[in-house]
Amino acid sequence: MNIDVWAELSGVQKDHALSRPAKVDAKDTKTQAEAIVAGVRAHGDVAIREFSERFDGGAPARFEVSNESFARAEAIVDASAHAALLRASKQITSFHEAGRPIADIQVETSPGVMCSCRHTPIQRVGLYAPGGSAPLPSTVLMLGIPASLASCPITMLCTPPGPDGGDVDPHILVAARLAGIDRVFAVGGAQAIAAMAYGSASIPKVDKIFGPGNAFVTAAKQLVAADPDGAAIDMPAGPSEVLVIADENANPDFVAADLLSQAEHGPDSQAVLLSTSIALLTATAVAVEEQLKSLPRAAIIAQSLVNCRLILMADENEAVLVSNQYAPEHLILNLDNAEELLNHITNAGSVFVGPFSPESAGDYASGTNHVLPTYGYARSYGGVGVESFTKTTTVQRLTPAGLIDLGPTIVTLAEIEGLRAHANAVTKRLDWWLASREQSATESLFGADDVADAEDIAALARHDIAQLRPYQSARELAPGGEVFLDANELPAALAEDSAESSSAAARTHGPLNAYPEPQPVALVQRLAELYETSSDNLVVSRGSDDIIDGLVRAFCHAGRDAIVVTPPTYGVYGVAAGIQGANVVQAPLIPLPAGGAAASFTLSVQSVVDRVLEYPRHRQDGGRAKLVFVCRPNNPTGQAAPLQQVSELCAALAGHAVVVVDEAYIEFSQHDSAITLQGKHSNLVVLRTLSKAWGLAGARCGTGVAHRQIVQLLHKVRAPYPLSAPSVAAVLRAIDEEGLRRCKENVAHVVALRAKLSAELAALPAVLHVFPSDANFLLVRTDDPDTMVRMCSKRGIVIRDRSEQLNLSGCVRISVGSDEDHDRLLAALTGKEAN
Ligand code: PMP
Repeated sequence: MNIDVWAELSGVQKDHALSRPAKVDAKDTKTQAEAIVAGVRAHGDVAIREFSERFDGGAPARFEVSNESFARAEAIVDASAHAALLRASKQITSFHEAGRPIADIQVETSPGVMCSCRHTPIQRVGLYAPGGSAPLPSTVLMLGIPASLASCPITMLCTPPGPDGGDVDPHILVAARLAGIDRVFAVGGAQAIAAMAYGSASIPKVDKIFGPGNAFVTAAKQLVAADPDGAAIDMPAGPSEVLVIADENANPDFVAADLLSQAEHGPDSQAVLLSTSIALLTATAVAVEEQLKSLPRAAIIAQSLVNCRLILMADENEAVLVSNQYAPEHLILNLDNAEELLNHITNAGSVFVGPFSPESAGDYASGTNHVLPTYGYARSYGGVGVESFTKTTTVQRLTPAGLIDLGPTIVTLAEIEGLRAHANAVTKRLDWWLASREQSATESLFGADDVADAEDIAALARHDIAQLRPYQSARELAPGGEVFLDANELPAALAEDSAESSSAAARTHGPLNAYPEPQPVALVQRLAELYETSSDNLVVSRGSDDIIDGLVRAFCHAGRDAIVVTPPTYGVYGVAAGIQGANVVQAPLIPLPAGGAAASFTLSVQSVVDRVLEYPRHRQDGGRAKLVFVCRPNNPTGQAAPLQQVSELCAALAGHAVVVVDEAYIEFSQHDSAITLQGKHSNLVVLRTLSKAWGLAGARCGTGVAHRQIVQLLHKVRAPYPLSAPSVAAVLRAIDEEGLRRCKENVAHVVALRAKLSAELAALPAVLHVFPSDANFLLVRTDDPDTMVRMCSKRGIVIRDRSEQLNLSGCVRISVGSDEDHDRLLAALTGKEAN
């Protein structure tokens, strides 16, 4: 065997050294394949039979392999062959399973423009496994397993019959069963390819054909792939090849065995060895001669070795360069720094790294696929995998708002391309939409504005939640009725008889045996009255914390979307985001002016808007900042952002984000509730609670007031029965007219106590500043928050250290209590006895 020195070869010689063996009689093969394909297409089974008899020496009476033949095959194949096929199939399954196409993706490319991608299996696939003198059950596994993993509804296999049209090789049949192949046909050669491409009376037509074969099979695959009525194919194919890069430490026996294993495939196979070591090249040439002596296919190998190249390279970089240029089907890196070199490999079907990774491992059982691009196609093709058996379908959905926003871009591009009808497809819709909005705004109570708003909200919400059919609780499905046998409750009669206490309970809040109303009508109506809104715009739940959680879940895709918060602020917003896997973006409140008597914190509308608008620009995944939480009055700073700011924020973020105004403490403030802005801004949610001014924290009752569309989304994510019957009864009793009068009195009282406490605290030497407050607590900056908390704690008084929060160094938060509580607090802080 000759050894070439790369550096000494001329350009032409280099080309020759890397040239593949010419495909045998390419022209003649093509002409014959054309005749076979045309014959099968025209005459179906009759032609298939005739060609089988001519080329395979016979055809079975029935092409489809019978169950009896499968049973015979199972009996013939010995235990060790069976075990080997089983082991290989497990390895292949394990690798290919991991390579299944990723889950469907969905990206909102701009507000109201949803793009998604679905993977669907190819419906009918036809596999080909060569047979005859060298049946390849391994190919059956390599094709059948990924087809099964892709869930192709119809998977069939063609493979040549045995001699004289006899039984198919039993190993092929056992492998077919292991791979989950539905039907096997004893047809080989170009006639099998034509039969699968066009179908015949006994062989079904398929959409895509996979698998290697001889020159006629390859030519037939190319012919049917070029015909729109034919079938797609996996990849163009040529003779098999290996390229080995080995260094001076490689074992020449291993290298020689790898070259020979390739040469064994057929006379037109090619094996190339590149090395920087002349000693290795020489020793390998000797080892090849030696090993050849004991190989049964020595005659084939001898022919193939004519195509073999042994080339001395200047260095490993040059070897990598030449290998990438050659683009081998198999590449073996038998070098000390194989891993490092791997990073520079750009063109190869499958790579075998290190001295103990022979090509045979990938050919049979490591788990990777052995159907690989040959003949230089590795420059542009990959091998077969599960994805080869699937295809993608993209889907887009545009809302009117989405089309309004993107329309001008589409129209401009259509006009550049002179495609007026394309532009019209957009402008017709937009003209219609705008006209119908104008018209229905004057006609309908819920005018086109409302519809457009609903579209905007739908575009912001999580698409899967918008599509979600919420749980239909028994009470929602059948609100009326007398005898309830629909919710698996204990009958009221039994429940009341069985426990005296429950009859007592029944007198105060109705029987407890039955599930409560999911959204109690009387409570919803009363709250709507109280908060001056309509029942349709209101959702009630276990405290406003629960609604915060629902909002984050309804709007934010985990790992993608974000909420914007304005720290220092209420911690539950960030925690709810954390639970949902949403990101938290901060637009901090601005501390103003440090040290002054009116020092406070103010909201920067611009900063919030900037954070919302810039978030999607930093992301590739369509993630958006969907919710902005504004706490007014803010916990723990105490001040309320002016209503004007809320209005500006909603207007600036229309179509971009929902503004959630948490008014847990609004009753203690002079400011109007943001509920008064309802109707002006569809992207506004106002949270109210009975936990503070109403003194009902233990009853857990919070309310969200929002556009109907948002309310409907919140209903989709809420618990089936969020409110307990005793709570609802207690709340209804507490929020009647008398309750409202008492609430107002209490608020006035708390406001007076707050003013008094604020002055008293400000007078303490340790207190640096008491922040103005619109709530029922005071934020106090001290020189030593730790000591203050400890002094209180010693007297059994608990206050909250907030000094860890952003811009709150030295701060504690103290709730406004009763006169007596304040006496005890001041005594603790001054070290005196309480009055
Ligand atoms: N929002 C803020 C700002 C709060 O401070 C609180 C209670 N600490 C809540 C909401 C939660 O209120 P509810 O009791 O309604 O869950």
